[in-house]
Amino acid sequence: MICTKCGRDKPETEKYFYRDKREKSGWKFWCRLCSKNNTKKNNPAKSNREKEARYKRAKRIMRRLYLMHREIFNEIIEHIGDEE
Ligand SMILES: [Zn+2]
Repeated sequence: MICTKCGRDKPETEKYFYRDKREKSGWKFWCRLCSKNNTKKNNPAKSNREKEARYKRAKRIMRRLYLMHREIFNEIIEHIGDEE
């Protein structure tokens, strides 16, 4: 069976491939080595993406807050330094 990731022809045994009941062939398309490498590589990227998404969400919320309370924000900015 040829691994669709590395393109190597490997024996169709559990030593080289993971079983996958959801697949028609009963095997995963990627060999064990590629599956292992992929999860290792994916994890930091995934957490980075999540961090970025969180940051974007926070930015959106801040912007909405500003738009909702623009007058208050502007008043605060205008009066900064008035007490001096
Ligand atoms: Zn492979």
